[in-house]
Amino acid sequence: MNGFGGWLRQFGEKLKIGFSRFMMGRYGTDKLNTAILLAGVALCFVTFFTKNDFLDMLLSLLANCLLIWAIFRSFSRNTYKRYQENRKYLQLLDRVKDRQHRYYNCPRCHQVVRVPRGKGKIAITCPKCKEKFIKKT
Ligand SMILES: [Zn+2]
Repeated sequence: MNGFGGWLRQFGEKLKIGFSRFMMGRYGTDKLNTAILLAGVALCFVTFFTKNDFLDMLLSLLANCLLIWAIFRSFSRNTYKRYQENRKYLQLLDRVKDRQHRYYNCPRCHQVVRVPRGKGKIAITCPKCKEKFIKKT
């Protein structure tokens, strides 16, 4: 018995090989892509509840852009750039989650400086270029 089932299995195999060949050297997915997709899906969901036609159109457009962006990223061959984007996203996420510290960019060399939260106005010295600047924490 090597009828339809066998043919289907063969077809599935071919599809799998074809797809992995297609994805070779391409980026695939990461946490940033998952976030983009989720944001796109969430926006689609929001459009169900918007009464305003213009807003509805705008949100749908934005949702589509997000979905296309996610697809573009996963098929991208510029894996280094995509990897950097994901790294930046994870860094940003860490900063948002970090309730104990605030992050500032040094006004001179743009080095990120982490300082404890809730200390009032403090003078921060950049660890890289020794520039001093005052910030409220
Ligand atoms: Zn600096």
